[in-house]
Amino acid sequence: MTSDTTTGGIVSRYGETRLPRYTSYPTAPRFSSVIGPGSYRDLLGKISETEPASLYLHVPFCRSMCWYCGCHTTISQKDAPILDYLTVLKREVRLVSEAIGRRQKVDTIHFGGGTPTIMKPEEFLDLKQSLDRAFQLDRTVELAVEIDPRTLTPEMTDALGQAGLTRASLGVQSFDLKVQKAINRIQTVEQTADALAGLRNAGADSINFDLIYGLPHQTVNSAAETARIAAAMRPERFAVFGYAHVPTFKKHQRLIDENALGDGRQRHAQAEAIAETLVAAGYRRIGLDHFALPGDALSIAADRGELHRNFQGYTTDGSQTLIGLGASAIGRMSEGYVQNDVAIGRYAQRISSGELATSKGYRLTGEDRMRASVIERLMCDFEVDLGDIAQRFGHPVEALRKTNAMLETLLADGIVSLNGNNLTVDTKHRFLIRTVASCFDAYLGESGRTHAAAA
Ligand code: SF4
Repeated sequence: MTSDTTTGGIVSRYGETRLPRYTSYPTAPRFSSVIGPGSYRDLLGKISETEPASLYLHVPFCRSMCWYCGCHTTISQKDAPILDYLTVLKREVRLVSEAIGRRQKVDTIHFGGGTPTIMKPEEFLDLKQSLDRAFQLDRTVELAVEIDPRTLTPEMTDALGQAGLTRASLGVQSFDLKVQKAINRIQTVEQTADALAGLRNAGADSINFDLIYGLPHQTVNSAAETARIAAAMRPERFAVFGYAHVPTFKKHQRLIDENALGDGRQRHAQAEAIAETLVAAGYRRIGLDHFALPGDALSIAADRGELHRNFQGYTTDGSQTLIGLGASAIGRMSEGYVQNDVAIGRYAQRISSGELATSKGYRLTGEDRMRASVIERLMCDFEVDLGDIAQRFGHPVEALRKTNAMLETLLADGIVSLNGNNLTVDTKHRFLIRTVASCFDAYLGESGRTHAAAA
């Protein structure tokens, strides 16, 4: 029996496979409690003095819960828990700086959440000042903030500008009111447009919109219509994600009507409709799920083969060191990964007692580094020279060339081709890049953790 090699057949066969997004390798479910505060202190002490580091600050609070949410966040209508958290976060900034032993050079700061703009303007500026004191911020430091347009105030926009905002990422998801009601996130086109105009005035020269497909009641038409309206606002970038329905891990997702969710083929058709709309509007497709205007730094990095992948997705940030601050924040050093306690109470208790809040992590082996490089290049460039990477990491190429059952199937289906040591993903099957990357994941299937569908 021959297999169905039409796009529909391919989507049915591979598309529902649950796979990681490969924003790191190994992926977070491999982290273990073997790595604790002592190991982290040790890793911080070895950070390069000359190479600037990046910072990620996590603000795990929102005013209301979006039912599709996959982030670590807590709903709070009160300001007191947020203020308490910020006090602890500033303490952690000092503790980390002391462990490094100097004011580390920093050239990128990313505030994520949750909703970072839930802070009051003066609290945000105070937190930024504490970073100024603890780190040596580059004169051209990139300051990126995730924004919820529904709650952004003009005062907060001004504060972001004063702090030196350069990039903003706005949650948009879908402009379809039926979809918005089904995910408990009502957001008008005007709210999004006003937020964008304000942030531009405040100095953000690169703005990203997040869109989602695969949401309840979403259709190909409504996904394309959202993309059309959003593209007309001309943000520099889009990140387009598939909704990951994992109600076992995210209990609030049980409020989503499963009967209103599309299957693999429908999800794929929605993703393609968004992509076609954005490309027709002048955006370039970057990696698996990002789009950028041709002059944007992400497009330029893609042209130069300098695109990178980290916990925020595709990035131009190639720094070896990412310092994660806040509950659940993940950091990456050249020797491995560390993650803080996810529970805010436990994180706060440990930091307040003068201890780092590392609860788990991972120390990379030489083979991990080689596989991480193969997976990153595949995710960014859709091709990789296995020989080059094996040589760079001092391993025989056979370790990578050794095909597994999935790679054999992908080769047989024409989804990838192997020319010498050069592995290339077929252009029209790029949406299966996570399946291709998974062929080089030595730990896949060990964690038992459920990931998002691959298409
Ligand atoms: S605003 Fe973002 S982080 Fe907060 S609940 Fe909604 S999706 Fe989650």
